[in-house]
Amino acid sequence: MHERYVGASTLGKGIDFADEAAYSEHRRMSKRILVVEDQEDLRGVLRDLLGSSGYSVLEAVDGRDGVAKALSERPDLILMDIQLPVLDGYDATRQIKADPNLKATPVIAVSSFAMKGDEEKARAAGCDHYVTKPYSPMQLLRIIRTYLQEQG
Ligand code: MN
Repeated sequence: MHERYVGASTLGKGIDFADEAAYSEHRRMSKRILVVEDQEDLRGVLRDLLGSSGYSVLEAVDGRDGVAKALSERPDLILMDIQLPVLDGYDATRQIKADPNLKATPVIAVSSFAMKGDEEKARAAGCDHYVTKPYSPMQLLRIIRTYLQEQG
């Protein structure tokens, strides 16, 4: 019936909205997180995790798409994969942080490899925080809440 207003979740904590107005209000009030991730399965995991936690999730599939959506949507926080096609997470973050409107937007780098020097490179590119895959969902949420200055 109003299936599209239910945030389906692998955690089983989907949010059920009464109607479209309630859904719109939630969309307006909730913090918006841009997920820049080229792997569809990982985007799905983050969509479920963040959606069920009350965030609006925007998605980008490569670095260039990430920069474009950051500029047009001005999300509250960005989760940035490092290993991305077209433009990697370092370059995408550099371009995002060079924009006056996005300079203060927290960027959390997510990397597949715990490579020596990776975190330093991410920070040098302007990333505010750095996590390696696989990460604990609860730990990631705690970091996100800290940057969005929410109680958690
Ligand atoms: Mn990747």
